[in-house]
Amino acid sequence: MSTFSLDLNEDQIQIQKWVHDFAESVVRPAGHEWDEREETPWPIIEEAAKVGLYSFDFITQCFFDESGLLLPIANEELAWGDAGIALAILGSTLGLAGIAANGTPEQLLEWGPQCFGTPEKIQMAAFCVSEPDAGSDVSSLKTRAVYDQAKDEWVLNGTKTWITNGGIADLHVVVASVDPELGARGQASFIVPPGTKGLSMGQKFKKMGIRASHTAEVVLDEVRVPGSCLLGGKEKLDAKLAAVREGKKSSSQAAMATFEASRPSVGAQALGIARAAYEYALDYAKERRAFGRAIIENQGIAFKLADMKTRIDASRLLVWRAAWMGRNSKPFEAGEGSMSKLFAGETAVWVTEQAIQIMGGYGYVREYPVERWHRDSKIYTIFEGTSEIQRLIIARAVSGVHVP
Ligand SMILES: Cc1cc2nc3c(=O)[nH]c(=O)nc-3n(C[C@H](O)[C@H](O)[C@H](O)COP(=O)(O)OP(=O)(O)OC[C@H]3O[C@@H](n4cnc5c(N)ncnc54)[C@H](O)[C@@H]3O)c2cc1C
Repeated sequence: MSTFSLDLNEDQIQIQKWVHDFAESVVRPAGHEWDEREETPWPIIEEAAKVGLYSFDFITQCFFDESGLLLPIANEELAWGDAGIALAILGSTLGLAGIAANGTPEQLLEWGPQCFGTPEKIQMAAFCVSEPDAGSDVSSLKTRAVYDQAKDEWVLNGTKTWITNGGIADLHVVVASVDPELGARGQASFIVPPGTKGLSMGQKFKKMGIRASHTAEVVLDEVRVPGSCLLGGKEKLDAKLAAVREGKKSSSQAAMATFEASRPSVGAQALGIARAAYEYALDYAKERRAFGRAIIENQGIAFKLADMKTRIDASRLLVWRAAWMGRNSKPFEAGEGSMSKLFAGETAVWVTEQAIQIMGGYGYVREYPVERWHRDSKIYTIFEGTSEIQRLIIARAVSGVHVP
């Protein structure tokens, strides 16, 4: 177990700088263009793959960092460059997290590298949980997985919605119901390998923010996958279902296990946006003059900046704590993973709005990046569990009461 420390080691500092340099020189300058185009920024992903940032090896290195801090650090720096492009680069990591949380080590080794491919042949992954009638309420997923024993295949049918990289990914990790009567405890995760028949992209969504990140429906029509694509394996699933039917408590819920692991990283992305907006607003407030003085000389502006910085640093402390706890198998007894995502997400929305206010009219126009950062920030109170759902998780954890 690693002891918690706010002092980054040499390796972590070097990687932080490496990701920051990429974010500053490649990601930030491209942010406006890809936001306007609302397309996947393939040239930037290729660039990231070329330098090794978009790769299974790099993400694995982050996952295995003993302190757990490397993943949020990389997420923060990339999102500091631009959140839409950061998500285009990091979206595959959620698919990988789905495999890591529910799969066997052999499945992780087989499918993990395929979430990213190689610089010569880039691949993508998607994690498909949400459905038109089941977003927060993951227990009511309608997508069904039925086992065809004669062929040792699973047959998947249903529609997923709001899926990052949905339909353009090579590999889709799909959470489906195996036994609908058991709700979330009757669900399992499946790999849908590249080129599988029956999986198609539905509509692509036009969004308020993170517009360089592809979000679409995924339609599953009689999708057949080999038995080996059930994450965790059939024996484990059968044992879990039998235990749940007998009324024993099961700790394993396919979608929740993934989100618990990824929340601090998502919080770190929100933190990156907030930091970008704060730095921009701080510089601006020192330069911009009104009534014969720099606007920062007004307490009304200076105090805003003080609050922005305070909330950003508090967000990072929550994110780092949760990341360290997750990596060191410390249970989130007070919903610490949710706290990190809740606070960082709401901070990003608030900080980016303050940044617009500090910049006045210049903050509101597309010539400057701050309005984009505000649009981008809003998703962090919605996906991977809305702010309300994070509060629900924390409230239940601290009270022991099943707040409905
Ligand atoms: C850009 C984008 C990318 C996404 N990427 C993915 C992805 O890759 N994979 C994936 O599976 N999903 C993804 N999602 C889906 C996302 O996780 C869901 O949108 C989110 O979980 C909320 O679900 P919902 O939209 O159905 O809202 P609902 O669940 O319908 O919620 C609506 C409102 O009601 C509130 N609410 C609901 N239940 C309660 C309650 N019990 N108590 C208090 N308030 C409640 C919610 O907080 C929210 O404010 C993405 C969404 C977007 C917009």
